[in-house]
Amino acid sequence: MYDSHLHTPLCKHAVGTPLEYVAAARERGLAGVVFTDHNPMPAWFDPQSRMPAEQLGLYHSLVEEARAQAPDGFYVGLGLEADFHPGTTDYVRRQLEAYPYDYVIGSVHYIGAWPFDHPDFTDEFDRRDRLELYSEYYGLVYAAIEAGVFDAIGHLDLPKKFGHVPPEEAWDLVEGVLTAVKGADLALDVNTAGWRKPIGEIYPAPRIINRAAELGIPVVLGSDAHEPEEVGWRFGDAVELLLESGYREAWVYRNRKPEPYPLERA
Ligand SMILES: [Zn+2]
Ligand SMILES: [Zn+2]
Repeated sequence: MYDSHLHTPLCKHAVGTPLEYVAAARERGLAGVVFTDHNPMPAWFDPQSRMPAEQLGLYHSLVEEARAQAPDGFYVGLGLEADFHPGTTDYVRRQLEAYPYDYVIGSVHYIGAWPFDHPDFTDEFDRRDRLELYSEYYGLVYAAIEAGVFDAIGHLDLPKKFGHVPPEEAWDLVEGVLTAVKGADLALDVNTAGWRKPIGEIYPAPRIINRAAELGIPVVLGSDAHEPEEVGWRFGDAVELLLESGYREAWVYRNRKPEPYPLERA
């Protein structure tokens, strides 16, 4: 198994060196990891929770150092969790073309100027109609799919993080987005961080994973670890859920190309 969603302290809200994440992954019996720290964005976009563009080279070298020190056969991939935000796609496209990344997750963390997954700004949920909120969010996810620059979509139902679950009427939106994911040959980031958050549910919800399985959408497992202790977080439970949904394999990316591996109970 591979953990394909890991951060580093360069994003300003994670701890532990890449070497420590790799050591934790080896202790947990994983076959490899892919670092996907928050990408540099234009200077006006969310500078407090990502590395500045000047540190991208440092990020590359830290991950490559971890790769060089890992034992033979243990895979260390270099990727990014790239934000999708209207007006920044050309910036991100050029960034991704400029370096040989292994894997790029496309994530929506903002609706307009609101970082809806930030614990300091949850009041805003009370001011918004829930269906309208999910409609805006999934509109952005749809645009991220259409952007054509990502390998997978990150934590597909992130607005539920603090417990604001979607209303039943939002299911049509999910169905539309999953159809678009399939049509664009993208994968889903199956992200166990949801189990560490107030919602206490994996991203995306089991119902969405079931539907994704029916549609034949590939999955990439990730812990979204922001500290070494979180590497491989509840992967056993995630594998169980995926097997129950009908999945028999997951994907890991190398050179932006998917490589399937079998899902097996530990
Ligand atoms: Zn983060
Ligand atoms: Zn994220």
